[in-house]
Amino acid sequence: MSQLPHQQGATDTAHEDKCRRCGVSCHVAVPIGRRVIAVPGLHCRFLAEDAPGQFSCTVYADRFTQAPWCHHADVASPLGYLAHDCPYGTPGRGKERVSDDEFRVLWPHIWRILRSWGVPNFVHHERFLDAMRERTGREWELVPMLTPDDQPFATDTQQMRLRAVSTSPDA
Ligand code: SF4
Repeated sequence: MSQLPHQQGATDTAHEDKCRRCGVSCHVAVPIGRRVIAVPGLHCRFLAEDAPGQFSCTVYADRFTQAPWCHHADVASPLGYLAHDCPYGTPGRGKERVSDDEFRVLWPHIWRILRSWGVPNFVHHERFLDAMRERTGREWELVPMLTPDDQPFATDTQQMRLRAVSTSPDA
């Protein structure tokens, strides 16, 4: 079975069994005040949702070759890249998955940040664009950012921005 990054370096079953397969660490998250909120649908292109809320990595054995943005848990934990309540992480530090109701309240702030920062190219484009269509009721596409100097996702080589797809027949 595929694993998730907080399991990297796992050497025994007891250690691996701590994993909840929440997939939060493989999602992009944005800061809202003192919290860091994971964005549903905005995650590594190699993350698979096997059942609602249950995730696995499809390239686990070869992840550092195929996914150079992926971090070993020892690196990810102090950077706050794991879930805030991850058994392998630093308690209270990290990404947070919130309820659908809370996410709807936070969405205007998150949306402003995503439009300003863009998203890393390593995300699953189709899944993210599907989620955007559900949230906004319109079609979007991802195009390269013109000014990648302001790069919040340092491990990715390319930053993408959201652009609304025109429904005009003349477009
Ligand atoms: S390659 Fe992607 S899905 Fe796999 S563990 Fe790393 S970040 Fe998660």
